[in-house]
Amino acid sequence: MNLITNRAKGTQDVLPKDSFKRSFVEKLLFDIAKTYGFGQIRTPVFEHTELFNKSVGDTTDVVQKEMYTFKDKGDRSITLRPEGTTPVVRAMLENGLHNNALPIKLSYLMSCYRYENPQAGRYREFNQFGAEIFGSEDPAADAELIFMVHDMFNRLGIKGLTLEINSIGCPKCKEKYYLKLQEYLESKKADLCPNCVDRLSRTPMRVLDCKSPICAGITKDAPVILDFLCKECSDHFEQVKSYLSQMQVLFKINPRIVRGLDYYTKTVFEFISTEIGAQGALGGGGRYDGLVKMIGGVDMPAIGVGLGVERIMLILEKQQIPLLEPEKCTIYIAGLGYEAREMALKLACIARQYSINAQCDIVGRGLKAQMKFADKIEAAFSIVIGE
Ligand code: AMP
Repeated sequence: MNLITNRAKGTQDVLPKDSFKRSFVEKLLFDIAKTYGFGQIRTPVFEHTELFNKSVGDTTDVVQKEMYTFKDKGDRSITLRPEGTTPVVRAMLENGLHNNALPIKLSYLMSCYRYENPQAGRYREFNQFGAEIFGSEDPAADAELIFMVHDMFNRLGIKGLTLEINSIGCPKCKEKYYLKLQEYLESKKADLCPNCVDRLSRTPMRVLDCKSPICAGITKDAPVILDFLCKECSDHFEQVKSYLSQMQVLFKINPRIVRGLDYYTKTVFEFISTEIGAQGALGGGGRYDGLVKMIGGVDMPAIGVGLGVERIMLILEKQQIPLLEPEKCTIYIAGLGYEAREMALKLACIARQYSINAQCDIVGRGLKAQMKFADKIEAAFSIVIGE
């Protein structure tokens, strides 16, 4: 075939044989979130670049290497959203939702864009289901959000996921920890990748997130943030763990989870699968108590999560979890002769008013070919109209 061009690298076409599965999953996620009190929010695909630079962090991979940033015709720097939380915070503040009764709970489904090296489970355009809770610093909010995600994976029938949690403390804890971590990393500086050398002085914790195997080897024995938490952050983490245990949610403490974006504080978590290859994080999130103030000047604690829809689809397929396929056609109305075909179209339209999936010939086939087609689309019933 002589196509002008193929789809862009790292993007996907979702065909009808798969799209019904996606719709099912997305609807289930929204339905569950609704029972936890989440309303839906939608934000634009692109934002002014400065929104992401500072909040996501200018030493992160996302900002340094992965953002789709361009000048529009008005010479403004525009970025396709690489993640969902920051745009939702902006929209929440810009529309005055922060004045509503707290907590504010917002859920969303959005496409995100990162210029990464595509592989299984990693795309340049991907979709995130996200949920954010604004206005509570209580550990109960952390526990409720984590429990909701646990509930979502359970109700999708996905098995064998590990929930890993950590606390990366508040700016006070980080200050103390950074000194120790910098001291450790300085002694290994000669072997770190150039990016990590650059990160060392400003955000040394980013080095723990580096994908280079050499850096990962170096940081294996690095000091961990959990040993540097202040009393408040430590108590908060204990309470989150206690809530999760009470709710019978199994978790593993992984002191190396730092998350890829800079705005996180205190609790961070990831749901990991070992069944879908190297990109095993099905979802992750954490608390970001300083972000709302950074974006809009309003002091408001918050916590959120993002789930990768494509990775959820991969694991559903891997675990062969059946999703009910919608009936292709309930009634096929075949017509013999012009008048009958006119009647068939009219009847099909009436049936659709009653939410019945009804099809008739719109290609100009003869009766025999129409019946063959009805067979192909697996019509449950056929009606033949004719003299
Ligand atoms: P993050 O906040 O970067 O951890 O992203 C949240 C979730 O989105 C991850 O746990 C993945 O499931 C998914 N995700 C992130 N990046 C990609 C990508 N490039 N392609 C597909 N899914 C992704």
